[in-house]
Amino acid sequence: MVNEKEIVITRPDFETATWYGSQWLKKAVDDFTRLGLHVTDLAGDLAVKSEVEKAIDTYNPVYFTGVGHGNADVFTGQNYNKIFVTCDCQKLAGRDSYLLSCMTAQRLGGDIINKGGLSYQGYWISYTFVVERVEDEDIDNYDKAFCDTVCFSQFLYGRTATVADAFYLRKELARLWVKFWEKVGGGSAVIKWITHDELTEGEDKDSKLYGDTTRRRTEEIWHRPAVMLIRKPRVKVNAPVTVAIAVACPQKCDLSGKTVQLIDHEGNVVAEKTLKLFQNGLYWTDFFTITFSNYGKFAYKAKFIGDETHPTEESLPQVFLVQGECTVKGTVTDAETKEPIQGATVRGGGKSTTTDENGNYELKVLAPATYTFTASKTGYWSQSKRLTVEPDKTYTLDFELKKKKVYTLKVTSTPITGLKISVNWKEYTTPYEGQFYERDWVRLYFPSPQTKDSAVYTFVKWLEDGSTSQKKYVYMTKDMTWTGVFTGGPERKGQPSESPVVTVTIHPKPEAEPTELTLTLDKTEYTSGEKMTLTGTLTFKSDGAPLPNRTIEIYENNNKIGTAKTDETGKYKYVHTAPEVKEDTEYNYQAKFAGDA
Ligand SMILES: [Zn+2]
Repeated sequence: MVNEKEIVITRPDFETATWYGSQWLKKAVDDFTRLGLHVTDLAGDLAVKSEVEKAIDTYNPVYFTGVGHGNADVFTGQNYNKIFVTCDCQKLAGRDSYLLSCMTAQRLGGDIINKGGLSYQGYWISYTFVVERVEDEDIDNYDKAFCDTVCFSQFLYGRTATVADAFYLRKELARLWVKFWEKVGGGSAVIKWITHDELTEGEDKDSKLYGDTTRRRTEEIWHRPAVMLIRKPRVKVNAPVTVAIAVACPQKCDLSGKTVQLIDHEGNVVAEKTLKLFQNGLYWTDFFTITFSNYGKFAYKAKFIGDETHPTEESLPQVFLVQGECTVKGTVTDAETKEPIQGATVRGGGKSTTTDENGNYELKVLAPATYTFTASKTGYWSQSKRLTVEPDKTYTLDFELKKKKVYTLKVTSTPITGLKISVNWKEYTTPYEGQFYERDWVRLYFPSPQTKDSAVYTFVKWLEDGSTSQKKYVYMTKDMTWTGVFTGGPERKGQPSESPVVTVTIHPKPEAEPTELTLTLDKTEYTSGEKMTLTGTLTFKSDGAPLPNRTIEIYENNNKIGTAKTDETGKYKYVHTAPEVKEDTEYNYQAKFAGDA
């Protein structure tokens, strides 16, 4: 039997994307530990196959989770070390797993279940790791929101929720976050990323759940709620901050009307609110606002006030970074000519602006903080500078940008036609001739499977002077030669052939024949509001054969009131309600068939 108290986690951190994932999962490690579970935390260089296998053999964990790069068949760790591969994942037999990586749901996830895995959660799509390690407010917000949704799921796992409940409540929490950003603003990129990772239409389209989804971990308290404080991580002093508190009982109990509190860093109750249903077992307070009157970092908690079934429970502390505002201004110039650059973008501290005709810019950003400010302009190398800022001060930050080398890319694709070229993610079709700068991204897409392999080979050879590497993305450097003709792979050719002779008979187009339409009412007198049944038959006049599936129009005193369809035997039926009248009144009814076109 597996050990229900043991969990193994991999958190590689060898480049930006995995670094972010590692930070997210660190919080899950803390959550599990807080729940009294033993976590083997394989972070950084420990996130490799040999260490995972050793940990599984030693501790026999009930649960494996990890963040890393992946594809349909592979889940990786530090430096792309292959931890689990389709056909080599039997170590997960008898365990639950949740892989935070691209596309493992396509094959590896199913194979884990085939090899005896109890349950698997993962992603069918290319999953978005945030790869810009800059102080961008949207990205900060995304991290916060995504970390919460992931940790919520992991947190529930350590309790008594079923695997399916944890899976679906994670999605509900992601929806709640999207709703939050739509309401408070400033989260456009957050909404885009969370939507990509969690919410593309259909419950299971992007995230997948396999295996025994009704599994739950046993624990004494079956109704211990999970509490989450939803808030903007950065807020401004003396400005209202919108927050919400979300609570779910793993048993999906009705928590509407229950009380939650927002507790400040000194343990004072800042706000007391009532829960209402959000979706699918998740309850929340709706949005409410609070304000901070001082700068600094403040750790707040949300508290659920228990009842006879549910214990009182607090969220993990959430840090509000409360800031004022400062001004950062300066000039962007050409490093060589010293001329001002107009239209350069300067971004930092979650803000961005463009320079005027004198190369000047000005940004107002939240402070205190340390930010990276970056100036960029097409055709120039961008430049970044770190700056620590205090509230209510003005800083001068100038940039000098160096020009990039310009190359000409010329691609013809004989004999392959329709070869697609993308330069900095913009797509073109051959023949193509255009300019690009050193370190721009250039990629070729291959139009048909039968020529793909040879085309890849030819492409790489053309780029790297004899290399047979199979990589499809090429990161341009100034040392590459970028003139040449793309000749593609071998073309498929056919031999001449003749088809056999086939004889058929062609009939003249039939002419429309005279038809006969009848109409009968079930009674001759009705009372206002009474149901009237109109029936009839549509047949050919010559032999009485029925005309099925034709539309019959029904008229009352020459006004069309509806239509009916004839069935296989040419019969139709129309039910009508007798009109309101003050005294006895005669009405005329008629049916019409408009003929076949
Ligand atoms: Zn409950």
